[in-house]
Amino acid sequence: MRTEFSIHQLADPHIAEAESILRKCVHCGFCTATCPTYVTLGNELDSPRGRIYLIKDMFENGRPADKEVVTHIDRCLSCLACMTTCPSGVDYMHLVDRARAHIHSTYRRPLPDRLIRMMLAFVLPYRGRFRASLTLAKLGRPFASLFDAVSPLKPLAAMLRIAPSSIPNRSSFTEPGNHPASGEKHGRVAIHTGCAQPVLQPATNEAAIRLLNRFGIEVVVAEGEGCCGALVHHMGREEDALDAARRNVDVWTHQIGDGGLDAIIITASGCGTTVKDYGHMLRLDPAYADKAAKVSALAKDITEYLATLALPAPANKTGLTVTYHSACSMQHGQKITVLPKTLLEAAGFSVKSPAEGHICCGSAGTYNIMQPEIATQLRDRKVRNIEATKPDIIAAGNIGCITQIAQGTDIPIVHTIELLDWAHGGPKPDGAPHAPASTALLWRVPT
Ligand code: SF4
Ligand code: SF4
Repeated sequence: MRTEFSIHQLADPHIAEAESILRKCVHCGFCTATCPTYVTLGNELDSPRGRIYLIKDMFENGRPADKEVVTHIDRCLSCLACMTTCPSGVDYMHLVDRARAHIHSTYRRPLPDRLIRMMLAFVLPYRGRFRASLTLAKLGRPFASLFDAVSPLKPLAAMLRIAPSSIPNRSSFTEPGNHPASGEKHGRVAIHTGCAQPVLQPATNEAAIRLLNRFGIEVVVAEGEGCCGALVHHMGREEDALDAARRNVDVWTHQIGDGGLDAIIITASGCGTTVKDYGHMLRLDPAYADKAAKVSALAKDITEYLATLALPAPANKTGLTVTYHSACSMQHGQKITVLPKTLLEAAGFSVKSPAEGHICCGSAGTYNIMQPEIATQLRDRKVRNIEATKPDIIAAGNIGCITQIAQGTDIPIVHTIELLDWAHGGPKPDGAPHAPASTALLWRVPT
């Protein structure tokens, strides 16, 4: 794509980066076929190509964001399906990140929108605040339909509906400390416990730590680590995101120097995509660029790390049928597509993949709160495809997807690692069905 930036504009490294991304786009439109918002809304401006044109026009003309740009960029899920499809290697992720930061700094949103965004940025990245807000949401749920009746307050209604009806107890596993390897030690990793996941589903990190310990891996929960910054990053709050990144980089750099780390394990793929991007996010900060690049290089999804270990045969082959939902951040953001399924199959599960696996479930950070109508359409489409595979249980590697899909189906859904831990001697995940009687019997009979 031909661009027309001035030399003065290109002196800004952010604009220079945007320009080099824009120039790679050849307008072919292949990306429109896999873009969930284009597939749902059918509007070119809600496709990757349409958004790229809007962003180009805004940056080239040095304009503040306007209502049209904001409407169509806000509707983007940042699912990155377009990056998987694009034959030209357009780095849409960093382009839309830049557009969102520009919107945040140049566009004055209507007051209700501003207040809701400020509240989300104040609450979601902090475990204590998030837990307290879920308690309040339980009390507020009966009023959801009242908020629904006032268009600018629909996100509040969505928030109340998404909040779980019961909140799990705090888990000691996510407190700072060391979880020593069982038996001979083969490695040492840090685990990122994050913000929302330990509140909504502490069983995930418990399973990951238990499983790693069982395979001889010491696991550190480092004092001071917290939200990866993805939630605020996707809202365009760049400085907040960079602060979160710097804090985690400091914490893990300390661990690298104090005992060494073989990896930084991440059990929410949305966070994994962001931590793997710390090196890029902080590339212009001389005090952090190198440290951030090292942290990003160590970041691994739990399934990537497990694949580097020699795993024993499973202790408990359940024979259950699992439909694996591949989170967008896993398949498009981190390009991890086969590994989770391979691990589940090796652990004795029969694994199925739903049709249209490349299409987002509508969770996408705070998207299901800010764009509830599109998010619900995408969720229902995803659930239809999953239910058509008739699984006993659904597995996914991202808490956002787990929460979103659970709203639309009665089939239990858990994190992949909870199933792997179960198969390797851990407890049965909450809500998981018992193994079919014939299978359980089969595995008790010595062969
Ligand atoms: S990130 Fe997803 S929603 Fe956004 S333009 Fe790309 S495919 Fe469409
Ligand atoms: S597929 Fe890639 S090159 Fe083609 S229009 Fe989309 S972003 Fe541009």
